[in-house]
Amino acid sequence: MKTKEVRELSTDGVFVFVGYVPRTDLVKGVVKMNQWGYVETGEDMSTDLPGVYVAGDIRSKRFRQITTAVADGTIAALAVQKFVKDHKQAA
Ligand SMILES: Cc1cc2nc3c(=O)[nH]c(=O)nc-3n(C[C@H](O)[C@H](O)[C@H](O)COP(=O)(O)OP(=O)(O)OC[C@H]3O[C@@H](n4cnc5c(N)ncnc54)[C@H](O)[C@@H]3O)c2cc1C
Repeated sequence: MKTKEVRELSTDGVFVFVGYVPRTDLVKGVVKMNQWGYVETGEDMSTDLPGVYVAGDIRSKRFRQITTAVADGTIAALAVQKFVKDHKQAA
């Protein structure tokens, strides 16, 4: 890519690197994001907008794997449940 040199390589398969640009347009300008466009969250997956939680690859974190995404989802679901319960009691 840097030298623009073109070479032919004999291979049995190719893994395409899809890049690191997150699809966060939906919440752009709504919740706080880092410089790379990932959503900043607390430990409970909360964003800076009360009642909005995110989970998985969309959030700023070190490792993006299925297991970490699923764990985020569990944490977010439990945190949302608590948020709704607390707000019902306050109303
Ligand atoms: C090539 C590749 C190989 C990988 N290999 C592994 C592996 O071997 N092991 C592993 O653990 N992890 C692997 N990962 C990482 C793993 O796939 C992710 O960490 C995981 O899928 C994240 O889950 P997610 O639900 O956060 O996001 P995703 O699985 O990306 O799901 C997000 C969904 O939201 C949808 N979406 C986006 N925007 C909108 C919108 N505006 N409205 C509605 N829907 C929307 C998308 O279409 C998508 O279906 C790999 C990733 C890639 C790209």
